[in-house]
Amino acid sequence: MERILIVEDSKALAKVVAKKINLELGFEVDIAYSMSEAKLFLKRYSYFLVLTDINLPDAPNGEIVDYALGSGNHVIVLSGNIDKTFRTSMLKKNIIDYVNKSGVNDINYILQTIARLQKNQNHTILVVDDSLVFRKQLQSMLENMFFKVITVAHGEEAMGILRTRNDISLVLTDYHMPVMNGLELTSEIRKIYTKNDLGVITVSNDDKEDTTALFLKSGANDYIKKPFSKEEFSCRINNSIEALENIHTITNHANRDFLTGLYNRRYFFATMQGYFEKALQESEKLAIAMIDIDHFKKINDTYGHDTGDKVINAVADTLRANTSQEDMVARFGGEEFCVVLKNIAPSKALSIFEDLRAKIELCSIAVANGENIHCTASIGVLLTPEETLEESVNQADMLLYSAKQQGRNRVVSN
Ligand code: GH3
Ligand code: MG
Ligand code: MG
Repeated sequence: MERILIVEDSKALAKVVAKKINLELGFEVDIAYSMSEAKLFLKRYSYFLVLTDINLPDAPNGEIVDYALGSGNHVIVLSGNIDKTFRTSMLKKNIIDYVNKSGVNDINYILQTIARLQKNQNHTILVVDDSLVFRKQLQSMLENMFFKVITVAHGEEAMGILRTRNDISLVLTDYHMPVMNGLELTSEIRKIYTKNDLGVITVSNDDKEDTTALFLKSGANDYIKKPFSKEEFSCRINNSIEALENIHTITNHANRDFLTGLYNRRYFFATMQGYFEKALQESEKLAIAMIDIDHFKKINDTYGHDTGDKVINAVADTLRANTSQEDMVARFGGEEFCVVLKNIAPSKALSIFEDLRAKIELCSIAVANGENIHCTASIGVLLTPEETLEESVNQADMLLYSAKQQGRNRVVSN
């Protein structure tokens, strides 16, 4: 478990914050009440983050901040001091944020900030700027916010990176650059990616009054004008990332089945259509299987609907765990699933489905009275596709029907 160090001489406050961080965010939290204690902790453990007061009994003027930064830590400063010049001098250091610690809202803000930093670790940002100095500066600020960062010197290089990697969340681009400038890059990106797939933020000191609008109209998500404050920068970046995450969550809800987290029927047909047509054209071998739990109604009737749900989940987990990431596993409804194995020889496909059938049979589901129950499933596998995806799925359904007729708990193929 990752650790957070709180350095704070007010015991009550430190304990409240520590408890919340532990319960809500799952970090192990250490508390130091003085700089000397903090030094001991910092020598002993490595920390995700140090949250520190600046007025400690043995270090009254923020000495701990330099010490923690100097030993390579990420630091958020907690302060009751609202003096503007002091705040500015603190923000000049490479700290993540300077936060008041007087009220409930402040504590909530701290928790939200840490949660944000945790999630930022999942995002890669591509920085595009011809100035090496500025590239390094942006990289250091973003890395301090826990992002992964890639840097390039102009638009064309950026397009090259985007072509080879699909893990970039956000592009941060300068305006004036050689080869391909920021505006051209934004337009190129928008030919391929929507604002919901990939964020673009322009960072520029261009002071013509219509530049901001020009970028926003070309598809930039935001525009940050140089010079900017560190706080404005991190707020704008975090806002854009959060918007992307929210859209991703909503899309995911629409595409997935609520009970099992597998893809739903709608998403299956929406995405498999393109793949199916291409596979037919290129004579790629594939296998489409309809899978249905046997006598499931009896499980519901005997043990109740909740146990029925557990059985559905156990089967869903078995299907997901024993197929590859590229394959499609969907729940079509009730206790019925559809699995498509891509680019696979018929004999291999059949052995995988036979193996899945056997694994489902071995599943053991605990019920309320301590008993364990088992289930079986019938599988219809279509190895020679029909002309359309719909017809192929229907045909797999016919093969499933014949597996049921032949006595269930078996694989039938064409
Ligand atoms: P067969 O072996 O021929 O497939 O028989 P079966 O009993 O499995 O099939 P049938 O289609 O008659 O029954 C399916 C039952 O699944 C009926 C329905 O109430 C129940 N069901 C549908 N969706 C859910 C669900 O989300 N959770 C639970 N627990 N039951 C569901
Ligand atoms: Mg059934
Ligand atoms: Mg059924």
